[in-house]
Amino acid sequence: MIPGSRLTPEAAGLGMTSPRARARLVESLRRNGIRDERVLAVMGSVPRHLFIDEALASRAYEDTALPIGRAQTISQPWVVARMTEALLEGGPRSKVLEIGTGSGYQAAVLAHLVEHVYTVERIDELQRAARRRFLRLGYRNVHCRYDDGRIGWAEHAPYDAIMVTAAASALDPELLRQLSPQGVLVAPVGEPGAQQLMRWSGGSNGWQPEVLGAVSFVPLLGGTA
Ligand code: SAH
Repeated sequence: MIPGSRLTPEAAGLGMTSPRARARLVESLRRNGIRDERVLAVMGSVPRHLFIDEALASRAYEDTALPIGRAQTISQPWVVARMTEALLEGGPRSKVLEIGTGSGYQAAVLAHLVEHVYTVERIDELQRAARRRFLRLGYRNVHCRYDDGRIGWAEHAPYDAIMVTAAASALDPELLRQLSPQGVLVAPVGEPGAQQLMRWSGGSNGWQPEVLGAVSFVPLLGGTA
């Protein structure tokens, strides 16, 4: 008998959702410039395959965006890692607001790195599925809201960081009002095909924008569905 041949492919580390597949993803993120070891460790531990449809699970640790239904996508792992890194830079972040829960994957990544994650989603079906995942996986520090998140979530403000995971041509200034002066806002801004990942910081002396690079996100839309 071949040694180890009675193990399932997952247990043997050969499966597409195995720890080894996750480790390969982490190596690819590292090669592509992700430097924050805390972020890399979390990307290696969160089971991304449990945030997508089972039929796509074998692709969960490819560095690519995947459909999650209702014309939405779970972001590419590199983008999740880069946005998380950009959010953590420059200060302790305890309370974070995410706009665009989608699958819940980005919120789960954040939940390992900060104390409280508040996340808003405008599509009821998606936010319900994400809530179920947070419960099942034991993410008790993720707080969900079903609403149009373009004006944030005032009730729990101020936040140490706000992350928007859908793109708008312009953001509502209300978001900056919900940030602490030491906070950061990370968001993709621009029209499809010309979006830039932006970061605003330095609130006590006037918010300064910084361009982090080109990205491609689904649009930030108004109202609920
Ligand atoms: N962070 C998500 C990525 C989801 S894609 C993940 O990790 O899977 C962007 C999400 O933003 C979609 O689910 C979309 O429905 C949602 N969205 C778009 N406009 C929104 C708005 N105004 N308020 C809240 N969510 C919004």
